[in-house]
Amino acid sequence: MRLLSCHHCRICGGTKNPIVASERPCALWNDKPWMPEGHYTLVRCSTCGNLYVDSDVTKEYLERLQAESVPKLEGTLTYESTAAMEDVRNSELQQNWEIIKKIRSPSVGDKLLDFGSAYGAFGNIAKKDGVKPNGVELQAQAVCASIKLWGEGVVHSGPIENAPFAEGEFQYGTSFETLEHLYDPVEVLKQIGALLSKDGVIAISVPSADYFLFKYWIYRKQPFSGWMRKNMPGNMQEGRVLVHNHINTFSVNSVTLMIEKAGLKVKYISPIGWRGGYIGKVGRLIAYLLWLFSHKRIAFAPSIFFVANKSENHTLKEPKRMSGMNYNKKRDWPGTFEERRSRNGNQ
Ligand SMILES: [Zn+2]
Repeated sequence: MRLLSCHHCRICGGTKNPIVASERPCALWNDKPWMPEGHYTLVRCSTCGNLYVDSDVTKEYLERLQAESVPKLEGTLTYESTAAMEDVRNSELQQNWEIIKKIRSPSVGDKLLDFGSAYGAFGNIAKKDGVKPNGVELQAQAVCASIKLWGEGVVHSGPIENAPFAEGEFQYGTSFETLEHLYDPVEVLKQIGALLSKDGVIAISVPSADYFLFKYWIYRKQPFSGWMRKNMPGNMQEGRVLVHNHINTFSVNSVTLMIEKAGLKVKYISPIGWRGGYIGKVGRLIAYLLWLFSHKRIAFAPSIFFVANKSENHTLKEPKRMSGMNYNKKRDWPGTFEERRSRNGNQ
């Protein structure tokens, strides 16, 4: 019998959704669990495919926790735990910037707002093309590190609704691997959109539900899962398969709906994030085939990357062939959430 959650979908509001994964104990940030219940349980929305946490966690609880500094991460440029992983992360951020630049070329003096700017890595990359970096970041130490690294710009330490920025001030709004940690990502995306100029673009990456459901199945549910955990642990940490601070893990449909609810229009979307090595190559190939044959419905990669803008009328350049995973043959993302849903079925 499938257990149903009493919590509604955090993106589309759908109810009576099944619980699909659970791990305990919940991971800690310093000495507190990410979810106050002490376990991490996920629900899959039957309407939009979103994977969301089955928890009574509040916005205040999350913000308090996320503002706490972790001593071992001080002095790094990202939140990665080793220097090698930090190098990989920086090259991924560089790739993201290359895609964004092909959609909207930067001019000297353009301004960037990086939401969840961490220790300033992405702002530092954009700065090399004459773009002025700014950020929003909850961790006070990361704020200081960013300002020192950039030598200019403003990093607001606190909720975006209180940030000292003007409407339409930015030509680029970005947020990489951050919205999944937030209580209300639609509202935050709306706020970033309000700060964006008419000809500006927003680029976001969030974790993919298809990938994490597969990962949970292969490490927890299939007959050889015990062998997999022992011999091929990948990036599992302390026996955890899931990432316990993700409030939402997005399907292509739930990401599309989130963008539309924020009053934005999708211009580009693609699965990204398979890292190097043999498994990465196989993963990229499978992801490409699934993306193609599912008509851009299944994102079998760690993350979903998208670029959106405010206006349907504004003309953006078509991204040409890019390194990594560029599966977008057509100019525009095909259809709204409702159109996609009726064409593809639920999810
Ligand atoms: Zn939903």
